[in-house]
Amino acid sequence: MIIVSACLLGFNCRYDGESRPDEYLLSSTLRKLFVPVCPEQLGGLPTPRGPSEIINGDGLDVLEGGSRILSASGSDVTDCFLRGANEVIRLVKLLDISTAIMKEKSPACGVCHIKRNGSLLRGSGVTSALLIKKGLRVISSDRIKEELENGVYRL
Ligand code: SF4
Repeated sequence: MIIVSACLLGFNCRYDGESRPDEYLLSSTLRKLFVPVCPEQLGGLPTPRGPSEIINGDGLDVLEGGSRILSASGSDVTDCFLRGANEVIRLVKLLDISTAIMKEKSPACGVCHIKRNGSLLRGSGVTSALLIKKGLRVISSDRIKEELENGVYRL
């Protein structure tokens, strides 16, 4: 089975109540293996909700206690992001999952990049950082087709 950011599979779980369906994933013969997860919802945040940003560093810094996450209204939502990441790990252990496909640029799911103040920065979101730390193969939504077709990753 493969963890996939739920918004990539058409679930309307984004902060704005929308999704970002990925046609390649939705038409994949692997789709019966997909386990959709939205770490922000799993952490207890409502939908829709205000967008959130990691205030400095990236998700790894948040995991290590060196950064926090604030919503657009200034609320500290760090605990929700940490709870969501740990709930995903619960699922990973329960289903013995070793691969995840995560939505790029999100403060929870970003793999190579996150956004801050409208700029794209190198770094992972909180859940992807924890998945990487736990040894999972974490694939960016921006590179899934290329990496599968190049044979870099075998699912
Ligand atoms: S990027 Fe991750 S946290 Fe954000 S809506 Fe998609 S699944 Fe949820």
